[in-house]
Amino acid sequence: MISPIEITIPVQQLIDRIGAAYMHEMIPVQPDPAAKAGHCYVNVQQKMAKDGGNLVYGWAVWLGDFICEGEHHAVWEDEDGHLIDVTPHLGAPEQLLFIPDDRYAYEGKYISNVRVGIGSNPLIEHFILLSEMKDFLRQFSTRVDDDNIHFNTYTGNVYNHYNTLCDNIELYIREGGKSGTPCYCKSSKPYSQCHGKNLLSAMENDRKNVTKVNS
Ligand SMILES: [Zn+2]
Repeated sequence: MISPIEITIPVQQLIDRIGAAYMHEMIPVQPDPAAKAGHCYVNVQQKMAKDGGNLVYGWAVWLGDFICEGEHHAVWEDEDGHLIDVTPHLGAPEQLLFIPDDRYAYEGKYISNVRVGIGSNPLIEHFILLSEMKDFLRQFSTRVDDDNIHFNTYTGNVYNHYNTLCDNIELYIREGGKSGTPCYCKSSKPYSQCHGKNLLSAMENDRKNVTKVNS
């Protein structure tokens, strides 16, 4: 995933879907040496302790081969009101497309990403639904430390199951898989009659079961 530098159609679709009250902007990425990837909230707080300023919530926009994704993110606002991303990212981009949005504050619980598909392959919708399923399940996890989350056994097994399905379909799409081509599991049946067949109803059931187990 890269940070888009142009507002192409899928990027605009993502901006519309997020529906924030503030205008998106390109902001510089300038992490301190001690800042850690994936820890934007902590990084901004450390920056504020050192240099003042404010924390601004919003969305980092990422563009992949077949999805455009908004990731909940926090950046630093300096005394003059300039936004600066103080968190390093994979691929070390120098700029980030950021959408300020003060509707969701981070309070220790995972905040789901927002995604739009790119292109006409209907399997992209399955990839997005599987990604959303993983986001849904993460809400039943607790954070153990900076790098680890914990599930109860039941929810952890369900999460691992969907994580594998998500990885499989991502690879399948990259390799040109379609609804009617042989499923990635090599069953020789088309995807739509194999792993794609009851995916939506299975997810629906698992959502109910996980909610029950965790209530
Ligand atoms: Zn299959």
